[in-house]
Amino acid sequence: MHRVHFTAARSALVLLATLLLAAPVAEAQTKVKAGFNLFSATQDVEVGTASAAEVEKQLPLVTDRAVLAYVDEIGQRLAAKAGGPQFKYQFGIINASDINAFALPGGFVYINRGIVESSRNEGELAGVLAHEIAHVSLRHGTHQASKAYGAKAGLSILGGLLGDRAGDSTAGIINAVGGFGMNALFLKFSRELETQSDIRGAQILAAAGYTPADMVSFFQMLEKTDTARKTSWLSSHPAPPDRVVRIEREAQLLRVSSQPTQRVTELKGIQSRLRRLGTAPTMAQIASGQTTGSTTAPAQTASGVAPPSTRLRSFTSDSRAYRISYPENWKAYEQGTTGVVFAPEGGITKVGGRTEIVHGVILNYYEPFGNVSNSKTLSYLGDSSVEDATNDLIKQIQQGDPHLNVVKNSTRELDLDSGPALTAVLRGVNPRTNIKERLTVVTHQLDDENLIYLLFATPEIDAKSYSATLTAMVESIQIDDDFTN
Ligand SMILES: [Zn+2]
Repeated sequence: MHRVHFTAARSALVLLATLLLAAPVAEAQTKVKAGFNLFSATQDVEVGTASAAEVEKQLPLVTDRAVLAYVDEIGQRLAAKAGGPQFKYQFGIINASDINAFALPGGFVYINRGIVESSRNEGELAGVLAHEIAHVSLRHGTHQASKAYGAKAGLSILGGLLGDRAGDSTAGIINAVGGFGMNALFLKFSRELETQSDIRGAQILAAAGYTPADMVSFFQMLEKTDTARKTSWLSSHPAPPDRVVRIEREAQLLRVSSQPTQRVTELKGIQSRLRRLGTAPTMAQIASGQTTGSTTAPAQTASGVAPPSTRLRSFTSDSRAYRISYPENWKAYEQGTTGVVFAPEGGITKVGGRTEIVHGVILNYYEPFGNVSNSKTLSYLGDSSVEDATNDLIKQIQQGDPHLNVVKNSTRELDLDSGPALTAVLRGVNPRTNIKERLTVVTHQLDDENLIYLLFATPEIDAKSYSATLTAMVESIQIDDDFTN
């Protein structure tokens, strides 16, 4: 309610009846062309609106009216020169100390408080905003989502299991490539797209009465900043090798004011207001739920989910192919004839229409897709080792959840009652929930060379308190090896 324009945007979807292209600000400037896109500009607004709602549930925002009005004024002045579809631009400030900023499709721009605090004049702050506005006007977020969708029209195994198949709708496409909210496709761009945003950003700056030289000086200051704060910006906006040179060259083609806006005094006033709010947490602290005094609830944490009961009950699959024990206070959700999901109350959440298992276990049957090529085996159906089949399964999981990486040296063999099994641990920060996840994969190869697998998911901070449950469940598995799907 204290945020500039956000409420209005949520209540009314901005319809873009006409997609006017702004007139070029100077004849000589470099023409930057937007890339391939499956979405319409109106769909960008839909995607951005849904994603902004998710982001604002997860991240604490600065609510100081004077600070918001200041950033909004600069943002609107730049947005008027954005070119591209006529999005209604809105600016939010994340209460985080890292130097970073991001933009969601359709006009939603967020900067961390650290940007406002570390800028030395208004032009530097405007340089970051102009760069983000350029990502939006060139529609980089949905461009990347379009490419990702084309590349993987297949369904993620987890999504498929829970019945979240992608349709042709905007939501369907977005869900297939990672969902609404803090989707990596909207947050991290290639160097080529970074160059585009630098160039378009410099053009916007000059057209709005600022100088691209301030954008350059901000990037140069970043180079000298301590690694942790610098890395935050660079990991989401990877620096093209000639970033500074390229911006300076563009500046020569532009009509830059001889007295560009810098308003240092106003900026200092805003910075002192921010200091009165106390020290901002880092994004990492926000992600792990360690924030204090924030005005918005931090990312979901373990709280709210009851610890797993040590008393177990037994589950036998419909097909009688396997039996497994699970905590008495969890529920079993059968999926088809072979799959089952076990989860506590609150363990499964929907984020932007996509189902996320935060605490819980998936057990199912897996037929390798051929994700792992192995020259020694001509065909997976012919001769697949348990390692190959397991790697194939892990690749399949990573296609749906690219944030999960295999933890080094976490692969081991287990000796179960039903025979040998493999286990591996995957880890990563889920971009949709912002939770640091741990996924333990356990596989057992059947006589037909397909797998029975178990995926045990917990937030990393809970991994220790769930390890006894994991062990008990794995040790309880009994499999009928003659079973086929
Ligand atoms: Zn960028």
